[in-house]
Amino acid sequence: MSEPVLKIENLSKSYELGKHNVQALSNLNLRVDAGEFVAIKGPSGSGKTTLLNMLGCMDKPTSGSVLLDGVDVTKLPESDLYKIRRDKVGFVFQTFNLLPYLNARENVECSMEDGKFKRSARKRRASELLGMVGLSGREEHRPQRLSAGEQQRVAIARALANDPAIILADEPTGNLGTKNKLELMKLLIDLNINRGTTIVVVTHDTHVASLSKRVLLLRDGTIMKERKGLDLADNKQTCPYCGGKVTDAESLGFLFREEEERRQDECSNGSLP
Ligand code: ADP
Ligand code: MG
Repeated sequence: MSEPVLKIENLSKSYELGKHNVQALSNLNLRVDAGEFVAIKGPSGSGKTTLLNMLGCMDKPTSGSVLLDGVDVTKLPESDLYKIRRDKVGFVFQTFNLLPYLNARENVECSMEDGKFKRSARKRRASELLGMVGLSGREEHRPQRLSAGEQQRVAIARALANDPAIILADEPTGNLGTKNKLELMKLLIDLNINRGTTIVVVTHDTHVASLSKRVLLLRDGTIMKERKGLDLADNKQTCPYCGGKVTDAESLGFLFREEEERRQDECSNGSLP
């Protein structure tokens, strides 16, 4: 069996809050193999962000191990973690976190600083990645001149910049409207299917979770359940909403939109509360 991209064992995290101890994660175990698309779904406060921060070496667990691309990152000093974060992990945040005084290309380019790509190659790579996420011609735009959906695309290009082992996305669609939410999921699905990008998304959004291949349900810091999601590479898949056949991200988008319209119609007809 191949090495997993990510493997966590007995992971726990607690925070001290005055006299109180908040147990944010308890004894989690998870394995993510190369090419997987996993959603971790849970209500607010269930530990999603804490978990993602552990997986992405932004914070250390209280106990347990996190193996990222074969390396136990919980044993590394902060000076090495910086390189792991830069080289192995691509982060996507709910609030995009782009630098406002840099244009789209510079936002992507600057994450490659001191990384494996030579300075002379970075500008072209940044432009290529922006083209790949559908932003050709927008390279020179600063974030404030881009829509929310476009800003999140820049963030995805930035996350891919150092060719990471895994993309970790924390509520990536949380600040997007329905149309942009769908477009963003289509982009992530395309990256997963066509480029083999390994993706872990945490979300409280049922729609977003259903579009992933594997869905883990997080409650009070533990994984309660796991279920299969949608595998678009398997052309026998059906849409989770209408039961229709889904063959690619494009047809998924169509079905998803139909479902949204149906719900809106039902709302305006008064048949839904
Ligand atoms: P989610 O992302 O699912 O909303 P979080 O991971 O942010 O959940 O939080 C999980 C639990 O840990 C919550 O009870 C939250 O209040 C607590 N928590 C998160 N970060 C901290 C912190 N830095 N200090 C104290 N408690 C925290
Ligand atoms: Mg969160």
